Amino acid sequence: MSSYRIAIAGCGPAGLAAALLLTRDGHRVELFERFAAPRPLGSGLMIQPTGLAVLEQLGLAGEVVAHGARITRLKGINERGRIALDARYADLGIPGLFGLGIHRASLFDILYRAVNDAGIRIHSGCEVTGCTSFGPTHRLTFTDSQQSEAFDLIVDALGIHSPLMADSVEPLPYGALWTTVAWPEGGPFDESLLEQRYRKAHQMVGVLPTGHHPSGGTREAAFFWSLRRADYAAWRSAGLDQWKDDVRELWPDCAILLDQIAHADQLTFARYAHRTAANPPQDGIVRIGDAWHCASPQLGQGANMALLDAWAIAAGLREGSSLSEGVRLALSWRSDHVRLYQWLTAAFTPLYQSDAAMPAAIRDRVLAPLARIWPISRIQALLVGGLFGGALAPLGLPMPDYQVAGSTASSTNACASGLDQS
Ligand SMILES: Cc1cc2nc3c(=O)[nH]c(=O)nc-3n(C[C@H](O)[C@H](O)[C@H](O)COP(=O)(O)OP(=O)(O)OC[C@H]3O[C@@H](n4cnc5c(N)ncnc54)[C@H](O)[C@@H]3O)c2cc1C
Repeated sequence: MSSYRIAIAGCGPAGLAAALLLTRDGHRVELFERFAAPRPLGSGLMIQPTGLAVLEQLGLAGEVVAHGARITRLKGINERGRIALDARYADLGIPGLFGLGIHRASLFDILYRAVNDAGIRIHSGCEVTGCTSFGPTHRLTFTDSQQSEAFDLIVDALGIHSPLMADSVEPLPYGALWTTVAWPEGGPFDESLLEQRYRKAHQMVGVLPTGHHPSGGTREAAFFWSLRRADYAAWRSAGLDQWKDDVRELWPDCAILLDQIAHADQLTFARYAHRTAANPPQDGIVRIGDAWHCASPQLGQGANMALLDAWAIAAGLREGSSLSEGVRLALSWRSDHVRLYQWLTAAFTPLYQSDAAMPAAIRDRVLAPLARIWPISRIQALLVGGLFGGALAPLGLPMPDYQVAGSTASSTNACASGLDQS
């Protein structure tokens, strides 16, 4: 296997995981990140079996599981109190399998620590603006007009607004307000559920347990509220009282969480976009994660897809007889899954975020009843788990061993609580 000089732009899940996997294979890897100290943005996310499969290969699954909350079911109820979404991981028929709610900062900390432990060089405070090619070598350019040294390959893991892309992305009409709240111990929420309440498809409130705060200690949840992009300015200027009334009306139990929110600044407005970028294998740049494919988070797949992309690029370079052949292999292994989930996410997003009445009616009256019937219940679980269409087989990735990840997590937790008491 050849060894290459590889620049990875972006310290999100895609970039950090790719750096670890490529370094492990003997490539000379350097990371470039705009922030002075790399840090994650946002609140919680769901790790699916696909993402955990990659984390397991990195030896990080136990630690990730120890920090997250094991989610067994996604449950959504409409304004009439009827089940509009009921997806159970148990329908996959794999004992012990779960989704994992986790704070972004926990996932980031675990990957970032592993990158530091592996001695991978991180150039922080480097805002990438473009790249230039001289024959077979490529350099990143930065805001101060400086250039990186020459690399054989640039991995674009710069996320949704990657400046290495010619076109810009148009955000979707709906985004969401997100914040992290303390988990109300003994409160009305079930720690094994991602729960949502809907009013048709134009209002949605959700609670995702995210396990322990990244620094240990208290348990937390991600709390989110769907909002039209065009209404964000009006929401800010209206103050929180009217909004809190709307949330309480839709899901009264949320009062205990709303009490933790005193300022609009505690909520971040996340805008989403939908795009699959061109990713030609011969250009000296390969896009992974959101830089390649971004979508609304309704199916909770983006970070998991980013981890799969990272795995694919390392496996491709291992198997390819040349750099471009390795990149071509990686992209070919991933492209069907990417296409399928981009399409599925585009199809499912309006069921949960739309001004029209029809998508919610289809969700509540057709899809929800159908999803209770086997094999649709299993297909739904495959879809939510990121496994629909077979994501792992082309990559030679085994399903994660949930027994091992769970027991490693328990011993990590036991050690952590032992330390806390000392
Ligand atoms: C509200 C919300 C909820 C979500 N929920 C889920 C979920 O439940 N499950 C899931 O799997 N996914 C979820 N996602 C999607 C997930 O967050 C993304 O798909 C994932 O973070 C993509 O990882 P990435 O590494 O490709 O990009 P990013 O995480 O965006 O990382 C990009 C990195 O590049 C850096 N960077 C950007 N521009 C520059 C520049 N010019 N120069 C240098 N550095 C730069 C950034 O600082 C960052 O470190 C959610 C997204 C949102 C917004």
